[in-house]
Amino acid sequence: MQVQVLVLNANFEPINVCNTRRAIGLILSGKAALIANGRGYIRTVTQNYPRPSVIRLEHMIQRARPSVKLTRREIFRRDGFTCQYCGRHGTDLTIDHVLPRHLGGLHMWTNVVTACAACNHHKGGRRLEEAHMVLLHLPKEPPASARYIFGRHLIDNHEWEPFIVGW
Ligand SMILES: [Zn+2]
Repeated sequence: MQVQVLVLNANFEPINVCNTRRAIGLILSGKAALIANGRGYIRTVTQNYPRPSVIRLEHMIQRARPSVKLTRREIFRRDGFTCQYCGRHGTDLTIDHVLPRHLGGLHMWTNVVTACAACNHHKGGRRLEEAHMVLLHLPKEPPASARYIFGRHLIDNHEWEPFIVGW
């Protein structure tokens, strides 16, 4: 029941991922309809329910423009899990504030980059110029497309692809 289900808004825009239990609750209460299954059936004493993969809400939910949350994991993902100073693809990754926080640097997409522990240590609390370091890419806010936001789920849920493309 913990398998992921893609939730579409009434206009088919992908808006969320929930688990099977929640998805079936939404369907049984008439709040959502099954759009895709193909995962077999859930047997109860009286009935078999198709196991949902994609559901669609019956009523449109209004929401703010989507954005990618500024978290460690999302920063690493934006930067391809690569140190933005030396280009190393590593496991000892850290978050570096390009303009250090104690110098007024903000915690925002354009001021945070992935850095390996060695580069972060070398930079210390200094500005780029002071540390004589250069960024491989200028940090930007990642696009809040459905493919970017839900892309990591596609590995396990190929059938979601047509519902995500273009949003
Ligand atoms: Zn590095």
